[in-house]
Parts: sequence; C-alpha cells; structure tokens
Amino acid sequence: MARYRGAVCRLCRREGAKLFLKGDRCYKPSCPIEKRGTQPPGQHGNSMRRGKALQGYGLQLREKQKVKRIYFVLEGQFRNYFERAARMKGITGENLLSLLERRLDNAVYRAGFSTSRRQARQLVNHGHVEVNGRKVDIPSFQVKPGDTVGVKESSRKNAHIEGAWQTAGGRGRPAWIAPADGEMSARVVTTPARGDIDRSINEQLIVELYSK
Ligand code: SF4
Repeated sequence: MARYRGAVCRLCRREGAKLFLKGDRCYKPSCPIEKRGTQPPGQHGNSMRRGKALQGYGLQLREKQKVKRIYFVLEGQFRNYFERAARMKGITGENLLSLLERRLDNAVYRAGFSTSRRQARQLVNHGHVEVNGRKVDIPSFQVKPGDTVGVKESSRKNAHIEGAWQTAGGRGRPAWIAPADGEMSARVVTTPARGDIDRSINEQLIVELYSK
C-alpha cells in the first residue's frame, strides 16, 4: 500500500500540533515543536499564518488531515472508515475515532510494544504480532473486547520491542487496553471510549466536511 515517505516532523509542523509520529523523540526536548513551536514548515511558514484564522472548509480539512496523519491512513481508507462509522449506531464522529483506535497497529502502539504508530505498523507488517495467539500481519485488523494482543515469542527479545515495553508506562496506556500479567501481551478490555482518545481532535469538523 502507498504511504507517506517524507519527513514526519514536517507533518506535525503543518498541523500545528504534536502528532507523536516519531517515537521516543516526541517525548524529548529535541522535538522540533518543542524547540521551534508550531511555525508551519517551509521558507514562508510564518507568512502562511498572517492571514485570517482558518474557518469553515479550511478548518474541517485541516482536522481531517490531522487525524489521517495521527493514524497513518490514506485518504481512500479514511473515507471508508467514515462511511462505516456513519452506518453504525451512535455518534458518527465517535464511531470514526473508535474504528481508527481499534486498528491493530494502533493497539500495538497503545499497548506499549512500540513507541509510535509507524513503528507499530512495521511490527505488524513484519509478522511480530499475534492476536489471540495467532499471527496477524494486517495493520488495519480490528481488535475487539476480549482479544489478546501480543508479541510472538521469538520476537520478545527484539531490542526495539523490549525497550518500548519497558518504557510504556511513562507514555501512558489508555483504559481500553491493559497489560496481561507476566507476559508481553495486553488484553482489550473494552471498546475505546471517546475519553481514551486524543481530546484535541474535533471529530465533528470531519463529519461536517464529509457531509457536504
Ligand atoms: Fe511530531 Fe514527534 Fe517530530 Fe515532535 S518529534 S515534531 S511530536 S513527530
């Protein structure tokens, strides 16, 4: 599948927010957003913000781009998630975020087996991840309450995975996924609630964008 291969910190600067795309560096003072603030990238970055504050369509578009970038999904896939969310019972925006949050690559990141969603996707793609004891190498696989997400036994000594697992507590785990005792695995306790997901996201803007 096609994916973005450019400099990821540039995406944070473009969205004017920390999107936590680069693992450990995102939590250190060397993060460009910490060092330089939210000036947009490029030679004319500052001048881009001189005009009127974003509103209407521009604001909705930026919010969609931000969420796509947080979860590392491309436009077509994002649109499919939205259409699926709209068909579900409940609030479309919250359904959308819940579907994104239940992606296997996100669950691997949230459980603490990686320091970023990007790294989590690699772990899944490379066959290091199991769901309920069986290898699953599809990053978009949806986990559900009761599932156990774990690392394959032969991959548990992988330095990246071990390092991420040991420092996971410091990055914080949401309530919907909890580490299982004594093993490198985590259990999906419940469906992710809105409160478990980045509060800076305004999903209503995305609903308005796609409802035009
Ligand atoms: Fe974004 Fe992380 Fe880069 Fe900071 S270090 S700009 S949070 S990707």
